[in-house]
Amino acid sequence: MKKIAIIGAGISGLYLSNLFKDNKDYQVSIFEKKNSVKISEGYGIQLSVNCVELLNKIGFNSLTEDEKFNPKKIDFYELKNSKKICDLEISKFNNDHCKYTTLKRSKLLQFLIQGLKNEIIKYNYNIQKIECDPELIKLEFDNGEKITCDYLIISDGVFSKGKSLISSNESNAIYNNSIAIRGNISKENFKNINDENISLFLGSGFHYVVYPLNKDVNYNFIGILKHELTLNEQKSHELFEENFYIEKIKNRLSQKISKMFIEKIQNLKIFPVFVSKKFFKPTNNIFLVGDAFFAFSPSFAQGASQSIEGAYELYESILNNKDFFNKRSKRVKMINNRSNFNQFVFHLSNPLMIFLRNILMKFLSKNKNFLDSYLGKIYKN
Ligand SMILES: Cc1cc2nc3c(=O)[nH]c(=O)nc-3n(C[C@H](O)[C@H](O)[C@H](O)COP(=O)(O)OP(=O)(O)OC[C@H]3O[C@@H](n4cnc5c(N)ncnc54)[C@H](O)[C@@H]3O)c2cc1C
Repeated sequence: MKKIAIIGAGISGLYLSNLFKDNKDYQVSIFEKKNSVKISEGYGIQLSVNCVELLNKIGFNSLTEDEKFNPKKIDFYELKNSKKICDLEISKFNNDHCKYTTLKRSKLLQFLIQGLKNEIIKYNYNIQKIECDPELIKLEFDNGEKITCDYLIISDGVFSKGKSLISSNESNAIYNNSIAIRGNISKENFKNINDENISLFLGSGFHYVVYPLNKDVNYNFIGILKHELTLNEQKSHELFEENFYIEKIKNRLSQKISKMFIEKIQNLKIFPVFVSKKFFKPTNNIFLVGDAFFAFSPSFAQGASQSIEGAYELYESILNNKDFFNKRSKRVKMINNRSNFNQFVFHLSNPLMIFLRNILMKFLSKNKNFLDSYLGKIYKN
């Protein structure tokens, strides 16, 4: 029996363990640095059909209609006057079993954990050292434990320490000059939007997205604000939890949306957005997956979907001894280019460019060839 060690109990590590858990040829363990999987209520996540199809392989279709939501379209609006620009029918990529889904991130994590036996996840294991010889991989954790394994899967997220250890910090994520603002907002604050859809408001240097997560009265709110940070600010992750700093960002945000609207956002939290610039290819039986493999800007909402897709590809490549890195990096490059392009287009500020963008969006959002190529290549896998 081959031993698989997974670093990090996030979306990709948990999904991968679910895939391996019943395979008698492998014994899988997850090593998580925290003392539990932090399931903060409230915030949402979007899962496109390519990912829902893979989640269904481990029983995701058993979630009830009350626990998730299937939006029909994305409605695009101009932020400054709430005028609708166009809509895009994302449900056209759905089939009877797999539908574009929004839900609470906590619900997804609960679902991924509930399928695993308690002893699979080992908490309070912060990876400290990775040694690799052709036969065996040796790991050391900050609690003094040492273990060996045949396969090492590093899925410890965007600030991956596992990757830093094996790459000598060569391909660390960098600040994307933007801040994510997350929260919940009551439907009452939106008079004219369609609550069957995702609504995306485009403004200069700022866009935000609201969508239902279930039948609740609150929408998920996620805004991306262009914002410079000093090097010290980039390094200090605790800063973003300080009230004075949140107020500072709210003030900056009030140049884009009204103070009254900002005050309506509940559980508002801010996160600096870090993204990958380079790939790193580990040797022997070590693999990176999820944000540790490559972190995108959030403007295509593909982070979690790609974490799951990558985990599935890795599972298949381990079973069949096939290449993982080259196929995955090709797909990631394509999605990364689209995410960056989306962010650029969403944040335009020149009125002429905005005028042209809106005309083009109206046309392209109804153009079958464009949709099949721009979205279909991602959603249909
Ligand atoms: C603001 C924002 C909004 C987003 N919205 C969406 C969305 O709508 N749709 C979408 O698809 N994606 C979204 N994403 C992206 C998505 O959340 C991530 O891509 C996804 O969670 C990555 O999963 P992962 O398994 O790679 O890592 P994570 O889910 O980050 O998990 C990493 C795990 O590793 C653990 N860990 C870290 N360091 C160590 C260590 N040294 N030793 C042991 N364990 C460790 C962590 O505690 C954590 O449990 C968003 C991202 C951001 C920033």
